[in-house]
Amino acid sequence: MSSVLSVVRMRKTFGGLVAVNDVSFEVAEGELIGLIGPNGSGKTTMLNLISGALRPTSGEIRLAGARISGLPPERIANEGIARTFQLVRVLSSMTAAENVLAGAAFVGGHAWGGHAQASAYTLLGRVGLAGRENVPVSAMTYIDQKRVELARALAGDPKLLLLDEWLAGLNPSELLIGINLIREIGREGRTIIMVEHVMDAIRTLCTRCVVMDSGVKIADGAAAAVLADPNVIRAYLGDDDA
Ligand code: ADP
Ligand code: MG
Repeated sequence: MSSVLSVVRMRKTFGGLVAVNDVSFEVAEGELIGLIGPNGSGKTTMLNLISGALRPTSGEIRLAGARISGLPPERIANEGIARTFQLVRVLSSMTAAENVLAGAAFVGGHAWGGHAQASAYTLLGRVGLAGRENVPVSAMTYIDQKRVELARALAGDPKLLLLDEWLAGLNPSELLIGINLIREIGREGRTIIMVEHVMDAIRTLCTRCVVMDSGVKIADGAAAAVLADPNVIRAYLGDDDA
């Protein structure tokens, strides 16, 4: 299978802190990868490096063979990488549909006209918000705001979708809905990297896991094997918040 994303000796320091310490991994087309590790291990920083929100200290990231590291975030979005945020970021005074249209505009698509409107509605239906398209996001529940953010991320038809703890904060029944939704999006053939603390989700969804601890990649392999790896278990046991 061809490589969608290559992360090569990626390094990010904040002053004296090495948040991401020469991490390398490959993501093949259609893979749903779990990026896991204790709190503070560098997962969000890694997503910020991939999406261009942060510039690497050193190393390289390639999307379908072309270097993207060092490009501004809007260029990287244009190249086909979309994301959601650990703390949901939506335009709360706008409606669900307006948020999705804003997402389409960000990647150079149309944010006006009947066609744009129709695709926004299709995407909102896709994430379970049919009939709620014109509800202001501020009037929505947390899971529905997360659905809006996901639809907005999908608006540019990204090659690669980055989810930063998209399932966090959901109650048990919402969690099942959320897991199914991610599974369906993955089955459409989209490549996904999900940062997640919900281990049941990792077990059921991910074909592969990359594990970070204190900025270092400590495991990379089939989800079941990685989750049984004593080094991985030790890393999690040392983290009171995990
Ligand atoms: P995770 O997502 O795995 O919990 P993060 O990537 O958010 O971890 O953080 C990794 C480390 O980098 C932490 O020690 C965090 O405090 C630090 N860090 C993250 N972002 C910044 C920043 N913008 N400035 C300084 N330190 C940061
Ligand atoms: Mg994080």
